Amino acid sequence: MLSTPDRRAVLKLAAASASLAACSPAVRVTEKHIAVIGGGIVGASIAYHLAKAGMKVTLLERGKLAERASRGTFAWINATWAKQPRHYHTFNQDGLLGWHRLQRDLQIPVRWGGSLEWFETPDRQARLAEQIAEQVDWGEPAEMLERNALFALEGNVNFSKVTRAAYSPNDGAVDPVLATQMLVAAARERGATIKENCEVERVTDNAGGRVVLSTGCGDITVDKFVLATGADPDATETLAGIDIPQRSTPGVIVLTKPQPRRIHRIIVAPGVHIHQRDDGRIVLGEQAGVPDNAAHAERLRERPNRFPDTAFAEQHAMRILAIADEYVPGIYSAEVEDVYIGWRPLPLDGHPVLGESPANPAAYLAIMHSGVSLAPIVGEVVAGEISMGVASNVLAPYRPHREFSEVRRY
Ligand SMILES: Cc1cc2nc3c(=O)[nH]c(=O)nc-3n(C[C@H](O)[C@H](O)[C@H](O)COP(=O)(O)OP(=O)(O)OC[C@H]3O[C@@H](n4cnc5c(N)ncnc54)[C@H](O)[C@@H]3O)c2cc1C
Repeated sequence: MLSTPDRRAVLKLAAASASLAACSPAVRVTEKHIAVIGGGIVGASIAYHLAKAGMKVTLLERGKLAERASRGTFAWINATWAKQPRHYHTFNQDGLLGWHRLQRDLQIPVRWGGSLEWFETPDRQARLAEQIAEQVDWGEPAEMLERNALFALEGNVNFSKVTRAAYSPNDGAVDPVLATQMLVAAARERGATIKENCEVERVTDNAGGRVVLSTGCGDITVDKFVLATGADPDATETLAGIDIPQRSTPGVIVLTKPQPRRIHRIIVAPGVHIHQRDDGRIVLGEQAGVPDNAAHAERLRERPNRFPDTAFAEQHAMRILAIADEYVPGIYSAEVEDVYIGWRPLPLDGHPVLGESPANPAAYLAIMHSGVSLAPIVGEVVAGEISMGVASNVLAPYRPHREFSEVRRY
């Protein structure tokens, strides 16, 4: 079990182990073998930071890298008003700083420039203004901007129905698939083994205090394993002996073919979120949610990532583009490249689940929403805890054994 010094001590220890590994890449900090199960952005970041800290790492992914939530995500990096309470907000701010470090260290492209957000009703707009005031108290350089200032920032956006919007200049966005692949490549360069198409089916103890992972690509004996299995409803119970209550919801993500630059920032408009990547592709995230009826419930039972056929997918894409066209005129004619249904890994109380399973200390859980915003800081702190065997107070609110309240945050 981990002991509990404070966050600064853990980060210092993690930094010390990383610099030891950097000076002498052939010498491992420990010969302990850690498996990371799940090749989404969270597992990729943990594998990278563990390998950087000098651990022996094997990353096991059931299918291909970033083909679940880390593909069907809007990929907005933020610490906005929705990140409540204060400790969770701070954790997301640390996530943003972590992305700056990854950009510097691994040259992962991040498009910074901030976000503009507004709502339809006067009541909600008034609450947004209050929420932005709280953000300022919490150290965000956010502000409410008048229409003229909005036009000055985004000349191609139709703000005619907006009097004021929240500007959060620190926000950014990434290409989540590329970021995952780059993290995995960096882990591999630091000695990690990567196995795709390798599902972990079972975990059994072996006599030497280690565990055997029975996988589709053979048995693997490890000292510890990290479950970064996302929204999979059964993985934590089957592999770590603990049921993590989740309320995963689906969201439709539309990706266009590369377009001339239309927008520079993340547009968080009523009904749709929009940003344009460095490669020119526009990403649209629907906000409406799923219609509440039996036909939809039946269709979604197996948690599909695709619509039943391309005509159906196109129909949904055109519907979402039509909503977006009200805010970014002309976007409706953009050619669609992909339509994907992402399933949010969403623990019941909206907060991450990070730490050892009470049922099996060899199992470490890393399940969360806002996993794009949080991946860098989660990778750093989790690698610090595992490589040094000490617990970070930063993760205290997110431990798996907590009571999961029904408060619907995020
Ligand atoms: C529509 C939508 C919009 C979102 N928007 C944002 C946003 O704007 N900003 C933000 O920060 N977050 C956002 N999120 C959340 C974010 O995308 C996720 O939190 C993040 O992608 C989770 O990453 P992950 O690596 O934990 O999970 P995943 O990407 O789902 O990866 C888990 C992996 O584990 C593998 N796996 C599962 N079981 C096994 C097994 N037994 N053996 C081997 N492999 C296994 C799966 O195949 C999968 O590849 C959004 C999510 C959705 C769905």
